[in-house]
Amino acid sequence: MARTFRMKCPNCGTVQNLFASGPCGKCGTPLYVEQPAAIALYRMGNFMGMANGFSLYLNETPFGAIGNRESLCIPLPYGDYKLHIVCGMNRKCNDPIISLSPQDPYVCLKVHMKPGFIQNKFVIERVDPATMPQD
Ligand SMILES: [Zn+2]
Repeated sequence: MARTFRMKCPNCGTVQNLFASGPCGKCGTPLYVEQPAAIALYRMGNFMGMANGFSLYLNETPFGAIGNRESLCIPLPYGDYKLHIVCGMNRKCNDPIISLSPQDPYVCLKVHMKPGFIQNKFVIERVDPATMPQD
């Protein structure tokens, strides 16, 4: 299966999935997946089988959703990125800050939902790239 790149158009702000560099689906601005760094994110299977997507935020900016057992690659320039995930009433997240640098340009993360008493919490953890699903 082709890798999905998740990108936000710098011109119109539309979040979209791309399989390669190409024009923004809305305004036609060229989008380049060949960035110096990237965050790979995998949503682990959920025991509740929740079909709805988890909403993804990058530095407080909406970045689309991630479905059950979906993996995404977000090409990015170097920098610090705060990751946040919410779903419906579940708004607690460990909000990791990911630093992408020339020394550490490719960060693999897995997200899972930890059931809680009042509400569930999203836990985003950095993992060894070798443990990411090769789809
Ligand atoms: Zn656009």
